[in-house]
Amino acid sequence: MKTGLTANELDQKEHRNNSPPKRSFIRERLEIEATKLSVSIHGSQYLVDFGLGSQPRFHTVSKTKECSCGVPYCEAIEAVRQYLQAGGLRAPDPEGMPPCSICGGRTYRDRTWDGKYTHTLGWRCEKGGLRHFLEAKAERIRKQLAENPWLIPPAPGYPGVRRDELMTYEECQAAYRRASSPDDDPSI
Ligand SMILES: [Zn+2]
Ligand SMILES: [Zn+2]
Repeated sequence: MKTGLTANELDQKEHRNNSPPKRSFIRERLEIEATKLSVSIHGSQYLVDFGLGSQPRFHTVSKTKECSCGVPYCEAIEAVRQYLQAGGLRAPDPEGMPPCSICGGRTYRDRTWDGKYTHTLGWRCEKGGLRHFLEAKAERIRKQLAENPWLIPPAPGYPGVRRDELMTYEECQAAYRRASSPDDDPSI
């Protein structure tokens, strides 16, 4: 009697849930056409050539496992994974990415954290990951606040509003508590 799924069935089930249904077909094709497919290093990325007749023929896969064609489960990403697993040479780290400002470690581009309005580049730290990116971002916001304290800058005939003039929730609560206990209030 069959009581549960075997490991293999579970594996297949996972693939069905997480990947496009063509996944197993893609894998087979990769193995069959392994000789036609080539992976090479292109700058700090991997260039995957699917050979003549493939559309598009060339795909560029980044270190963050994104393909230039924009397909989330592009077979080029899988090809790079297999290439690295087989001992293929790793692409050099992208140049121009400054080291992590928290620990000095190397950083890798992460487009999902690109600043939509600030146009700053998203990254992850090799040691602290996303945590260091967020810490650095918080620190930058704090500095900006210190350098630019105006929420609404002064204008002729208008004094402006400083950010620190606005009450925070905590300050408001503290004031509320003071107002509710007459002992603390020197005016009574
Ligand atoms: Zn692709
Ligand atoms: Zn770091």
